[in-house]
Amino acid sequence: MSDLVLRMTDVYRVHGSGPTAVRALDGVSLTVAAGELVAVMGPSGSGKSTLLNLAGALDLPTAGVVEIDGQSTSSLRPADLAALRRRRVGVVFQDLNLIPSLTAAENIGLPLELDGRRVSEARRAAVGALHELGLDELADRYPDQMSGGQQQRVAIARALVGDRRLVLADEPTGALDSLTGEGVLAVLRARCDGGAAGLLVTHEARHAAWADRVVYLRDGRVVDSTEAYGAPSMPRGRHTSPPAGMPSAPPPATTSPAAPASAPTLVGQPGERASEG
Ligand code: ADP
Ligand code: MG
Repeated sequence: MSDLVLRMTDVYRVHGSGPTAVRALDGVSLTVAAGELVAVMGPSGSGKSTLLNLAGALDLPTAGVVEIDGQSTSSLRPADLAALRRRRVGVVFQDLNLIPSLTAAENIGLPLELDGRRVSEARRAAVGALHELGLDELADRYPDQMSGGQQQRVAIARALVGDRRLVLADEPTGALDSLTGEGVLAVLRARCDGGAAGLLVTHEARHAAWADRVVYLRDGRVVDSTEAYGAPSMPRGRHTSPPAGMPSAPPPATTSPAAPASAPTLVGQPGERASEG
């Protein structure tokens, strides 16, 4: 756990003020080391997207500290914060945010170009990222010439391009069929095995099985945190070659984001399945 990429310490995020204030995060502490993939689960409104936004320096905490590669996001000037985001953080948004007037390769290369790399170098990296996801043929297509699933995979390629140390994904498999979805998770897993730190919001236990740990949120708090399949001492790199379309590990023992014993009234109610918000 020495090479921490993300460290969140007693983090609060309050939206609004006065009696209508919402504590989207209510004292969350979390670390993600290089090589680790951490899944975040929890019901709609539990603070998952807020957590991801803070982890990616897209938003700042009301209180507490968020550090990326040892730098507190609250202490950076806006220009340095923007540079940190561009260089270190890859984000797959729920709404894809692809730019319609740019091709897939241009969309993917854009963050590198903004960071001062040559167009040819950005193009090469973008084509490489598309290749990694098996999407070579999409390089010169515009978003409206792709299916929803293809757009989503291009957005994932954009998040993985370059040497991002921190990769954040909010339900990245939403529009994908299950086989393609597993393929995307395999790429995310491979990135983490290659040294990135990953944070994955999901409500499917099957997807969380790709993670080293699962963190459960409820009402802005971490209510439980587990090793995904109870093997904390297993060496890293075990996920690098799963059978085609298959997770390389069994699903976690915990199949639903159950509340801890201290909140028995919330367990097993109808409609208690975690859903996305
Ligand atoms: P999740 O992703 O788990 O569904 P969110 O992080 O989106 O949860 O939201 C957590 C809580 O914070 C919810 O109650 C939500 O309504 C509230 N919230 C999120 N963003 C805002 C905002 N910009 N303004 C006010 N309330 C917000
Ligand atoms: Mg959300």
